[in-house]
Amino acid sequence: MLVVTKFGGSSLSCASQFKKVKDIITSNENRKVVVVSALGKRESSDTKITDLLYIIHAHLKYSVAIDDVWNLLYSRFVEVKNDLKINYDIESDLEELKNSLTKNTSDAYLVSRGEYLTAKLMSSYLGFEFVDAKDLIVFNYDGTINYEFTEAKVNDNFNASGIVVPGFYGAYPNGEIKLLSRGGSDVTGSILAKSLNANIYENWTDVSGIMMADPRLVNNPKVVKELTYEELRELSYMGANVLHEETIFPIQALDIPINIKNTNSPNDEGTYIRSKCTDTSSIITGIAGKKDFLAISIYKKHMSNEVGFLKKVLTVLEKYNISIEHVPTGIDNVSVVVSKEQLERNLHKICEDIKNSSNADMVEVSEPMALIAIVGRNMVGKKGLSGRIFEIFGRNDINIKMIAQGPEEINIIVGVENIAYESTIKTLYNELQKINEK
Ligand code: ASP
Repeated sequence: MLVVTKFGGSSLSCASQFKKVKDIITSNENRKVVVVSALGKRESSDTKITDLLYIIHAHLKYSVAIDDVWNLLYSRFVEVKNDLKINYDIESDLEELKNSLTKNTSDAYLVSRGEYLTAKLMSSYLGFEFVDAKDLIVFNYDGTINYEFTEAKVNDNFNASGIVVPGFYGAYPNGEIKLLSRGGSDVTGSILAKSLNANIYENWTDVSGIMMADPRLVNNPKVVKELTYEELRELSYMGANVLHEETIFPIQALDIPINIKNTNSPNDEGTYIRSKCTDTSSIITGIAGKKDFLAISIYKKHMSNEVGFLKKVLTVLEKYNISIEHVPTGIDNVSVVVSKEQLERNLHKICEDIKNSSNADMVEVSEPMALIAIVGRNMVGKKGLSGRIFEIFGRNDINIKMIAQGPEEINIIVGVENIAYESTIKTLYNELQKINEK
C-alpha cells in the first residue's frame, strides 16, 4: 500500500503547521511520498513565498534593490527552522542563492526555490530523503510532460523509507528548470501517484473537501463527499479552486482516487474523487462559475444554408490563438463565447476580421457576462430537471443570457449578467438543495 501526499502552502505556513504535517505523516506508515508547495500565508496580510519570489524577480529585472523583500523571505524560512530546531543549514543555502542572483536569473529557477527550500526543511524535519523535482519530472521542449522518462526517474529515485519532493516544477532534458502553472504542486503529486501506481493520492489543504459552492459567496456550503473525475474537471474548470484543474489527468486512467483532506482537521473524511461514485441520491453535485465572458454575435442572412460559415469564423479566432467556450447558434446568427481577457487586446481587429472573412451583415459584442455551471453525474436522464432549474431563474427575476447542455448531461451552463453573478450563485445554492432533497 502506498499513499502519495501533497501539502499546500497553507499547511506549511509556519512551525505549528509543519508539526501537523508530521503528525499526519507518522500516523499512517503508508504515507511515504510527501510533495510540498512553498510556505503559504500565516494570515491574510501575509504574502506567499511564491509571490515574494516573483516580486524579487521583477526587482532584479528592473534593477531595484531586493533587500527588503529578501529579508521577509529569509525570515520566514529561518523562523520555521529555528522554531522546530531543524538540523538543516538553510541560512547558507539562502545566502548562496542571494549571491547567485543577477538580472538574468530565470524566473522559473528563482520561483522554484520556494518549493525547493520548503522541501529541504520538511525532509530534514521528517527524516525522509529529499529528492529534487528537477531529477524526476521531465518536460519535453514543447512544454508537455514526458511521462515515459518521468516514470522511469521517479521509480529509480523512490526510497521506500520516505521521500519529500518539491512541487510545482521539473526540468527540460538539459536540466533547465520549468514551472508548472500556478498551483501546480497538485499536478506534481498526481504525476508521482501515477508513476508509482499509488493506491491513493491525498491532497492536504485548509478545507475539509470540495464545497458544493464557493464559500466566499455562500455561507458554510456543504462538503461534497464524493465526485467523479469528470465532475471535478467541470467544477474546477469553471472556477472551483480547491484543486488545480489539470490534477486528474495523470491518474484518471489508472483510477487512483484523490482524497482532499484538511490538515487542520485531519479526521474529517474530506472529498473522494474517483471514476465511479456510489451515491446516487444527490442530483446536483456542485455549482461553480466565472465572470467576464463576451459573446461575439455574427449575423448574416441565409447563414443557415451556407456550408462552411462557422469554419470561417473559427479560423479567425484560431489565428488570434483564442480558445472558445461555447458556440450557441440561431438560424441566421451564431455567437462565439470567449473569455474577455483573451479578446481585450485585439477585439476590434478580430471583429473586423470576422466580418470580412465571413462576409457577415453585422458583428456585435455583448456586455460581459458570467457563466455558471450546474454539475451533477446523476442529472442524466432526469426528466423535467432543467425545467425545475430554469424555473428558479424566472422566479428569482434573473435574466438568462445563454444556455448550454451537452448530450452527456453532466452539466448545464447558464450565462447571466456579470453583476448578477454573486446573487445567482447564492440563490442557486439555496434552491438546488431542495432539488437534492426530493
Ligand atoms: N507555490 C506555487 C503557487 O503558489 C505552486 C503551488 O502552491 O502549488 O502557485
